[in-house]
Amino acid sequence: MKSDLKNLARIEQAISKSRTFFIAGHVKPDGDTVGSALALSSLLKRLGKKCEVFSAEGIPEYLMFLKGADRIKISKKAEGHFDCAIILECSDLERMGGLIEPSQAGILINIDHHAFSSEYGDINLLDPGASSSAEQVFFLFRHMKKDLTCHEAEALYVGIVTDTGKFQQTNTTAKALTVAAELLKNGVKPFKVYEKLYATQTLSSLRLLGGALATLEVTASGKVAHMHVTKDMYEKAGSGAAETEGIINYSMMIPGVLVGVLLRENGGTGGVKASLRSREGIDVNNVAKRFGGGGHKTASGCTIMADLPSAKKALLEEIARNIGEAGL
Ligand code: 5GP
Ligand code: MN
Repeated sequence: MKSDLKNLARIEQAISKSRTFFIAGHVKPDGDTVGSALALSSLLKRLGKKCEVFSAEGIPEYLMFLKGADRIKISKKAEGHFDCAIILECSDLERMGGLIEPSQAGILINIDHHAFSSEYGDINLLDPGASSSAEQVFFLFRHMKKDLTCHEAEALYVGIVTDTGKFQQTNTTAKALTVAAELLKNGVKPFKVYEKLYATQTLSSLRLLGGALATLEVTASGKVAHMHVTKDMYEKAGSGAAETEGIINYSMMIPGVLVGVLLRENGGTGGVKASLRSREGIDVNNVAKRFGGGGHKTASGCTIMADLPSAKKALLEEIARNIGEAGL
């Protein structure tokens, strides 16, 4: 895209004239947020820049093998002023968890691949056609004519693998696979990444999975599968919200299911976090938006400030309405 080229050039220019950098992705950091941030920060450091990666919430254990993951600053607030702030994967600034105010950055860069992103940056590199922000960051490396170190390639590969659901979801494009192939040429070992991301599960996360699966039910004539995790279930499993990753995928395995739902009781902030998945034809981003959330057509989420039974009832009604409207 022409506008992409212009924005890539503007980002390169902003990087070249800045010395201090702030990088952050969204709350509940995932493989794409963490992978993209680490690859970008590594490049900036190689360019002699001062760069810090922040996250408003802890990094999940399965991503801690990535080089630099242990140096990500977990904080609710970043103090001071930065020449440049790069925000990854946040369709709006709130998704970052309020780490900085725009006034703390000389220049604010927004890199995102979500369907509906607001243009809150001074520069906005927005591409809903990109599989992941990692893919966008790859093209920034390309634009800047920078080779990837093995660790940078691995971080970006993790972003693409996790955001495409191991190259299974509808965002698995020829471009995403071509970028992945390039990353392999730079030293990524897919088997090692698979072992770390998918073949390793803590006892507590397996216990939590068992608890969640025990709540699995189908409604709407078998078109919707839903399950939940309560605070009590976290406690019994010795687990936490970071270990719910991937649980929702089980809901979509049942033949005939069009929409999968996972509801989790929040700790401190209260309310219920919902994850939604759908088959093509049902736009769950529409459903999430009704509750103040967002995401993609086939994968989205929201927070509902209600108790678990009320949140579930409201969400299932909205999903049934969308299925009806889609004529499915
Ligand atoms: P997950 O269910 O894995 O947490 O999220 C699926 C997708 O929905 C991701 O792309 C994520 O960024 C987006 N998403 C999840 N929760 C929210 C939310 O509360 N607000 C917005 N805007 N997007 C969300
Ligand atoms: Mn992403």
